[in-house]
Amino acid sequence: MLSVVFALLRASATLPFLTSSLTKNRIPNIQLSADDLKCPDKRRELSAFYFQTFNRTVFSDKLPPNLAVHWNKRLLTTAGRCLQATIGDQRVAFIHLSNKICDTTDRVRDTLLHEMCHAATWVLDGVQHTDHGKNFQFWAERAHRIHPDLPPINSFHTYIIRKQFNYRCTKCSNRVGRHTDSLDTKKNVCGLCGGRFQLMKESGDSKTSSRTTVHEPSARGDSFARYVRENIRRVKQRNKKLSIQGIMRKLSREFDKIHGR
Ligand SMILES: [Zn+2]
Ligand SMILES: [Zn+2]
Repeated sequence: MLSVVFALLRASATLPFLTSSLTKNRIPNIQLSADDLKCPDKRRELSAFYFQTFNRTVFSDKLPPNLAVHWNKRLLTTAGRCLQATIGDQRVAFIHLSNKICDTTDRVRDTLLHEMCHAATWVLDGVQHTDHGKNFQFWAERAHRIHPDLPPINSFHTYIIRKQFNYRCTKCSNRVGRHTDSLDTKKNVCGLCGGRFQLMKESGDSKTSSRTTVHEPSARGDSFARYVRENIRRVKQRNKKLSIQGIMRKLSREFDKIHGR
């Protein structure tokens, strides 16, 4: 379904109304369901679509088209982050989006654009900062000028993390998850055995959602750059056929492991 939408958008040269809405920089309103966003292919396709679009409209296609956008299930306290490093004489950036927090198309779009501004300060401006200084503001303001209909790129958006409500079949222990506690346990029965569902109690206050900010504290970004400097040679030597993006992915996995993510 999603691929159909994107196929249409790609073919927009033959669909005048889409072309004109794109030249006006209007971002098509795509709404995927929470279940769609759980499908790795669909959310990758979505983030790739937004990346391509913003790279054209805001960054004049200057960000490398293969700049890696990686969905990270271990990112639990921040919606996204942009890791920056130097490989050889190339400045590279690596964007992570949190599966858990980016659970609506709007959050994917806004978080990705925020992280792309961080990527631009490094890859295009050569300023290695993960804070929201002058260079970041330049790109954020430009993005806002070009896309006035999108929410402005703030340093801190507050996102509510949606908690999952889990129900268990009282007969066969089959589990289902919902984003609200709306499952009518009198009407809905287990699809496997016809048993009744019961809302599972979780430890702690499962009904209050926790809040998070979009931005990763800068200390982490800086220590990642150092980690890359210190380990790039070893990883390159052992993985001679890996692309730069592959090497970055390996390094960021190692880095997360060491830092307990
Ligand atoms: Zn059952
Ligand atoms: Zn930020």
